[in-house]
Amino acid sequence: MSVASSIQSTVQSTVTDFPAARSSHPPATAPPAPPPAQLPEAIDALRRERNAVILAHYYQDDAIQDIADVIGDSLELARRAASTEADVIVFCGVHFMAETAKILNPGRIVVLPDLAAGCSLADACPADEFAAFRARHSDHIVVSYINCSAAVKAQSDLICTSSNAVQLVQQLPKDRPILFAPDANLGRWVARQSGRELTLWPGSCIVHETFSEQALLELRLEHPEAEVIAHPECQQQLLDLADFIGSTSKLLQRAQTSEAPAFIVLTEPGILHQMQRRVPEKAFYPVPGSDGCSCNACPYMRLNTLEKLWHCLATLEPRIELDEELRLRALAPIERMLAMSA
Ligand code: SF4
Repeated sequence: MSVASSIQSTVQSTVTDFPAARSSHPPATAPPAPPPAQLPEAIDALRRERNAVILAHYYQDDAIQDIADVIGDSLELARRAASTEADVIVFCGVHFMAETAKILNPGRIVVLPDLAAGCSLADACPADEFAAFRARHSDHIVVSYINCSAAVKAQSDLICTSSNAVQLVQQLPKDRPILFAPDANLGRWVARQSGRELTLWPGSCIVHETFSEQALLELRLEHPEAEVIAHPECQQQLLDLADFIGSTSKLLQRAQTSEAPAFIVLTEPGILHQMQRRVPEKAFYPVPGSDGCSCNACPYMRLNTLEKLWHCLATLEPRIELDEELRLRALAPIERMLAMSA
């Protein structure tokens, strides 16, 4: 039986909620960190001492990206977390990403520099409300974007990322309806690309919802040579103005392979650091949020700092811990994703 057809046997048991404890880090009793100038060297020494790997999302601050062993989007980091031999995984990203690393690595220590680094999208899909929604669509295959809690993953048949969502949905049995959660903007884009009708959970990302259409139009007038590249979590009216739409890693590839000399970028501006490093001769223009605010930077991702990274390597706290029953339920749809997108 193929992986896709095994999805016919949907997990029917209801998982209600297994909330993770959240707090800010470091606590008042934590040892003092070295001065800022010495932090990179001190982090490097601790990384070797602990046999730790530092995984960082493209939306992290430049200083964290520069010290990481691996920089990637959700899919690349999940793959790397699945194959690591390190004893400790330091996940510089947000909570659901570190949780995914723990789901894949129950025997390894997984730490997140700041446990308060959540995600508005994951928070917009509480597990008990999702269970009720799923019950109202009990004949549907449940596909969840990786930006959700372990308790929502555990209720899903298949996990996807923005890199592989279209490819995975196209592999699903044609005679079964599909429920897609939690990002409705991404879901609408996947439906258009795959030709499949999707029933959508009404969630969205506060960062990708914030880009100003007016500012984008002005940037286009100012830089007519620039290509507009957008993440599919953006709203439809902005995607309609884009020349290229793709996941964070595909936007990075596009910046390298397109002949355009400049790009107007509709995603979290942390990615500009890698774009500028890889093609320094090209120009990149982030699109501001409405009212010119800097709310296009993810406030959760930016909670992690070099100092907190040092603290979590020094103390091996705060750790991600998961109930084993929940972990096993959340693992199955992630493993399907990794098999189907191999
Ligand atoms: S950018 Fe949006 S989806 Fe990504 S972590 Fe931040 S709030 Fe969540």
